[in-house]
Amino acid sequence: MARVAVVGGGLGGIAAAVRLAKIGHEVSLFEARAELGGALGSHTRDGYTWDAGPTATALPGAVRDLFRKSGRPLDREIDLVAVEEFREHRFDDDSRVVLRAGRAPQEEALRDAFGERVAAQWLAWTEASHEPWEVVRKEYLERPWALDLVDRSVRDLLFTRETLHRRVKRSLKDPRLRVIALHHAVQGGHDPRNVPAWWGVLDYVEQKFGVWTVPGGLGRLTEVLTKRLRERRVEVHLDTAVTDVAVRDGRAVGVTTASGEHGAEIVVCAVDPRRLPALAPLVARTMPALPPVVCHLGLAGTAPDLPAEIVFHRDPTIVVRRSGSGPDGGVGATLLARGRISEDPVTALARYGLDLRPHVVTRIDENPRELVERLHGSPYGVAWQGRRTLTDRLSTRTPVPGVFAGGAHAAPGAGVPFVALSSALLAQEVGPA
Ligand SMILES: Cc1cc2nc3c(=O)[nH]c(=O)nc-3n(C[C@H](O)[C@H](O)[C@H](O)COP(=O)(O)OP(=O)(O)OC[C@H]3O[C@@H](n4cnc5c(N)ncnc54)[C@H](O)[C@@H]3O)c2cc1C
Repeated sequence: MARVAVVGGGLGGIAAAVRLAKIGHEVSLFEARAELGGALGSHTRDGYTWDAGPTATALPGAVRDLFRKSGRPLDREIDLVAVEEFREHRFDDDSRVVLRAGRAPQEEALRDAFGERVAAQWLAWTEASHEPWEVVRKEYLERPWALDLVDRSVRDLLFTRETLHRRVKRSLKDPRLRVIALHHAVQGGHDPRNVPAWWGVLDYVEQKFGVWTVPGGLGRLTEVLTKRLRERRVEVHLDTAVTDVAVRDGRAVGVTTASGEHGAEIVVCAVDPRRLPALAPLVARTMPALPPVVCHLGLAGTAPDLPAEIVFHRDPTIVVRRSGSGPDGGVGATLLARGRISEDPVTALARYGLDLRPHVVTRIDENPRELVERLHGSPYGVAWQGRRTLTDRLSTRTPVPGVFAGGAHAAPGAGVPFVALSSALLAQEVGPA
């Protein structure tokens, strides 16, 4: 049994802590804020509640695996339900398409919206990702990543010089499909010219496995995970920022906080490592991917019915998510804006044809700087700066003996499914007590 200190109580840190405790280690978790969950949580104001961060997740298997491997299956704790119509894309000319899971429903929606030829282009695009996805899944997502662990063909795929931007341009002739295929990269805070082509697998993953959420808000996952931390007897230190990893004779011996050193044989970094002096030199070439401008709106019961998510592909790009609930039949909506933001996103949205202004009862605004300050780092992880980002960011096992990395800033990256998967890799690397 090893003493483990986990730095960061977001999804990445909690997931690592409960898994490592389940396989017999003595785990302490340090969280700088007064509450757990990081980006995965909720905001409340004037009787309204919103998901503060993620509202839905792809790859539900990653979350299910986390629950199964840390104690009890997810469905004994909380429901994970499919979002049937998970995203509507709207364009400049007000044309639109609503995407659901499944090849046939996507073909039908695109055929009805844009015609036979465009639908066929999209199916060819997603089908081309079938094989790459299997490789990425087996070699990058489901086993700890290290350059010398993968064979030549895998390296060629992951380290391709082709960017997502170029692949999209080459594969998709329809300008609307190009915008849809770049959406995940743009929303993740990346320039698609710096993202490797294999990121196209995300469209295939959504088509095949769908998009899932929790009734009452995805933030509720933090409640059940907090319960699991208690069940697994993880010692949780809230309001305790870790200032560094303590390293002696070249290996980790614990973490330091304002109250001194806390000894541990294993340290898990589930925060931005650039903020911990012992690890910062290892990631000197990385930059964080920044969050969007976020605006949570409390809408009166008279507001129009909103679908789960609408993406307005203009400048700025605005994502409107149905999120949360309020008093007297009120509903919540969250706007995520990226691009040229020179006016209130609610005003821009009205220009785009969705005027929520008469229904707004209350709101919470958070700009990217405020969000990063609140969470002591960006929950969007590391910005892609070309294929070298694969080796510039930390892998599960770091060059400092005894230090392991997970969460949005380590491989395999940001977003609920990838952060959950990072904890599985950590448990594999550390091994049972
Ligand atoms: C507005 C928004 C919408 C999103 N939407 C989606 C979505 O729909 N689907 C999806 O899959 N993903 C979404 N994401 C991304 C996803 O939420 C994150 O990638 C994921 O939750 C990151 O988890 P994490 O634990 O790595 O980091 P974080 O959630 O950032 O947690 C890090 C934690 O570590 C703590 N910490 C930092 N430094 C220290 C320190 N030195 N000592 C102690 N504690 C420290 C922080 O206080 C924080 O609690 C969204 C994010 C945001 C902000």
